[in-house]
Amino acid sequence: MDAADKELESGLGIGGGEEGSVHSWDLSTSVDGPGSRMTLFLAGCPLRCQYCQNPDTWKMKDGKRHTVDEVMERVERYRQVMETTGGGLTISGGEPLLQAGFVAAIMRRAKELGVHTALDTSGLLGNRLSDDELKDIDLVLLDIKSGLPETYLRVTGRELQPTLDFARRLSGLKRTMWVRFVLVPGLTDAEDNVDAIADFLAGLTGVERVEVLPFHQMGRAKWEAAGEAYLLGDVTPPDEEAVGRVRERFRARGLTVR
Ligand code: SF4
Repeated sequence: MDAADKELESGLGIGGGEEGSVHSWDLSTSVDGPGSRMTLFLAGCPLRCQYCQNPDTWKMKDGKRHTVDEVMERVERYRQVMETTGGGLTISGGEPLLQAGFVAAIMRRAKELGVHTALDTSGLLGNRLSDDELKDIDLVLLDIKSGLPETYLRVTGRELQPTLDFARRLSGLKRTMWVRFVLVPGLTDAEDNVDAIADFLAGLTGVERVEVLPFHQMGRAKWEAAGEAYLLGDVTPPDEEAVGRVRERFRARGLTVR
C-alpha cells in the first residue's frame, strides 16, 4: 500500500460527521465559485496529480482537527460579506470527499443558514455522498484531469471512471457544475484527451461552464519542501494560443468556456 492508498484508508476513519482534519481557510473572490467566498481546505488526498499545487494538503494527519461547530462559527462570521457579494462557502482540499461525512454535515448546516455552497472535488469519491447530501451543494467545481483513462491514470495515479460516473449522477440530479481542466503541455494537451472530455461534457446537463487552466510552475517549491519527486520541472506553461485552441474545442461542442 503506498502513501496515497493509506490516505484513502485513513479517510474512512474520520469525518463521520462531527469533526474533520482541516488544512487551512481562506477568503477569496472569483476563484472558487461566485462572489466572495470562504474556502475551507480539508487535509488528505488519495490522488497524486503530477501538477498538484498543494502537495502539503496530501496527508490527513498534517491537518488540524476542527468540529463542525467551529467551522460554522467562521461561516457565521463571514455570512454578511458572502450575502452582500452573492458569495458563499466552498469546501476544497486535498480531496474533500475523503471526509465525506464532515463535508455533508457542514453543507447541511450552511444550507440551513441560507449560505450558497460549493464543493471543489476530483469526483473520485463522489459515491460517498448520497443524493440527498448532494442536494445541499449548489455548485460542484469538478476537476476532470484528463479524458482518456490511461492519461488520467498517468496524471493522477487513479482511475478516471469514478469521476465520469459522478458527473453523470450530478447531471441526472440536475446539479450545477463548473468543470475544470488543467492544460499541461506534453501531459494533458493531446487532442484526443481534450476531445474525450469535451464530448463527454456535451452529453450532460448542468455544466454551466468549463474552465481551462494553464499549467504553471508555482507549486514547484512545495514539492521540493515536501521531499516529493516533481516530474514537471522542465515543462513550460502553455502559451495563450495553445490555451485558446483547447478552449475552442470545448466551445465547438456548445459548452460555455472561461
Ligand atoms: S486532487 Fe487536488 S490536491 Fe489531490 S493531488 Fe490532485 S491537484 Fe493535488
